[in-house]
Amino acid sequence: MDETGPDIRFEGVTKRYAGAAVSDVDCAIAAGSFVALVGGSGAGKSTLLRMVNRLVEPDSGRVLIEGADVAEGAAHLLRRRIGYVFQSIGLMPHMSVAENIGLVPRLAGDAPADVAALLEMVELPAAYAVRAPSALSGGERQRVGVARALATGAKLMLLDEPFGALDPVTRDAIGRRYRALHERLGLTSLMVTHDMAEALLLADRILVMAKGRIVGDATPAEMLAGRAGEEASALVAVAARQAERIEALKA
Ligand code: ADP
Ligand code: MG
Repeated sequence: MDETGPDIRFEGVTKRYAGAAVSDVDCAIAAGSFVALVGGSGAGKSTLLRMVNRLVEPDSGRVLIEGADVAEGAAHLLRRRIGYVFQSIGLMPHMSVAENIGLVPRLAGDAPADVAALLEMVELPAAYAVRAPSALSGGERQRVGVARALATGAKLMLLDEPFGALDPVTRDAIGRRYRALHERLGLTSLMVTHDMAEALLLADRILVMAKGRIVGDATPAEMLAGRAGEEASALVAVAARQAERIEALKA
């Protein structure tokens, strides 16, 4: 693939509900990078992510994709350029895998999705095209969700705890598969996870959120070296302690 995914910029982005969900976030995400957004429940991760594809509109500030404000133009056109994968991916139960993957291009009146190529991309057998979603495992369904998100040719992927509902082994495998796909297609990926270990293993850069703000911003190596602030160090410590306890069990 020639073309690389777009860069994203958050400029003073704020969203309030009853209280502040996201407060004055400034951040630039490089084209083609894989960025993880970590932090506790309610930190504002999903809200920040959803302001990129305008499922949430900011109260103030703006989000720019390749320099263009996402607020300009129609939201449905914006969303066609952005893949969105979330935990309960919501495949249509009465449609086949192929129909699910092809749904968005079909609704948009675009050229039909190349279902065979998309299934191959997410490493599912071509024969799965005719199956119902209910005839797939959880991991296979998530991979169909990724294929569906890629069906419009989107180069920017937003992933909100995409593998959160999967068992650890499947989750590890599908995470690494996704990372390889990210490389191969030259995507820009922004992935929410509450799991620091997953972020450290998959991402180029990790943003730590707490109370609506970015309180840590570093590469995995910098995080592991303790150079990304208190919140980040605390999350890294949990992941490291778990790994140590498992090592100790082996002794
Ligand atoms: P995270 O994804 O990090 O768990 P969220 O972005 O979902 O956090 O939520 C941040 C804060 O905003 C939370 O306090 C949450 O309750 C609140 N919030 C999120 N979405 C809504 C909504 N649609 N209506 C009201 N409050 C919301
Ligand atoms: Mg969330």
